[in-house]
Amino acid sequence: MKCKRNKQEKYKKLSCPNCSSENIIKRGVRKTENRGEIQRFSCKDCSYRFVVDDGFYRMRNTPQKISQSIDLFYRGVSTRKVQEHLAIFHPHNASNVSVYKWIIKYSKMISKFTDRLKLDVGMEVQVDEMECHRRKSHKSRKGVEKNWFIDSICPETRFLISSEYCRTRSLRDIKAVVSRIKQKSEDKTKIVTTDGLNVYPRAIKQVWGYNNKLGRHNVMHNKVNASKGEGFNHPIERLHNSVRARTKVMRGFHGSIHSANAIMKGFEIYYNFITKHQAIKKCPYELALPELAKIMKEDKNRWLSLIKITKEASL
Ligand SMILES: [Zn+2]
Repeated sequence: MKCKRNKQEKYKKLSCPNCSSENIIKRGVRKTENRGEIQRFSCKDCSYRFVVDDGFYRMRNTPQKISQSIDLFYRGVSTRKVQEHLAIFHPHNASNVSVYKWIIKYSKMISKFTDRLKLDVGMEVQVDEMECHRRKSHKSRKGVEKNWFIDSICPETRFLISSEYCRTRSLRDIKAVVSRIKQKSEDKTKIVTTDGLNVYPRAIKQVWGYNNKLGRHNVMHNKVNASKGEGFNHPIERLHNSVRARTKVMRGFHGSIHSANAIMKGFEIYYNFITKHQAIKKCPYELALPELAKIMKEDKNRWLSLIKITKEASL
C-alpha cells in the first residue's frame, strides 16, 4: 500500500522537460537493445514525448551490469579483470575503458547527492591526510606525482564525513574538507582532532569561528603530537589502512587529478554505504543517516538504490 502511494507521488512530481507542465500521461514504451522496455511519457499541454532519466539514460548496458562492475572495482578487482568477468557472464561486451568511465560517472553522480545530506554524527571528528601517488599518464614515462587524500571521520558512527583528493595539503585544500564537515554535521561538532600540520588551527578558526560571548572558539582543537608518542585513536588510521589496501592495486590512478578525485568519491560511497564496518557490524550510513537507512533497508544492491534516489532528488 505504502509502496503504491510512493509511486504515485513520484509520478506526480514529473514535469514536461519542454514546457514544465505537470499534466503528464504515460504513453507507450521505448524498446532498447540492452535495457529492455522503458516507459515513455507525453505532455498533455504541448504533446512533447519523453522518457525519464533513471540515471541510466542512453547507457548501452543494464543497470545491473554497470552497478556490478562498480562494486567489483571497489572490492579490489581491476577494470581489466572486471571486463574479463563481464565477458563471461554477460552477452553484450564492454571494454575496460567503459568500466572505468562508469566508475567515474556514477561516483560523481552519487556524491553530488550524498554531499548534501545532513548527518547524525557524534561530537568529535578526526581529520587527517595521507600521501598518495598518482601516475600522470598510463605511459609510465611521464612519472609519478605525489598527492594527498584529506579525509575526516566520525569515530562514533565511522562515517567518512568529507574527503578530497588534492595536489597539496595547503590551507585551501584542508578548508575544503573542513568546511564540508561543518555543513554536513551542522552544529554537532565540538571537538576536531588533527595532527600537527600547521594549517589546521587557521582552517578550524576560519570555518567554525570564535565565540565572543564565551571567549573561546566554537570547537575545541585537539592536536595529537606524533613525536611525543601520541596517536590518533584508531578509527581514522583503520580507514587509512583500507584506503592504502585499495589504492595500492588501483590501476585507475593514472591520468588527471579530477578522475583520481572522482574515484576516491566512489571509495567514500563504498566505505559509507556498501561495506559492513567490522567494529560497528553495520554500514556507517545506518548510524549516521537513519532516515535513508529506513528507505534502503530492504535493498540489496545499494549502488543502484543510491543512483535511483540521486536521480529522483534532482528531478
Ligand atoms: Zn509540455
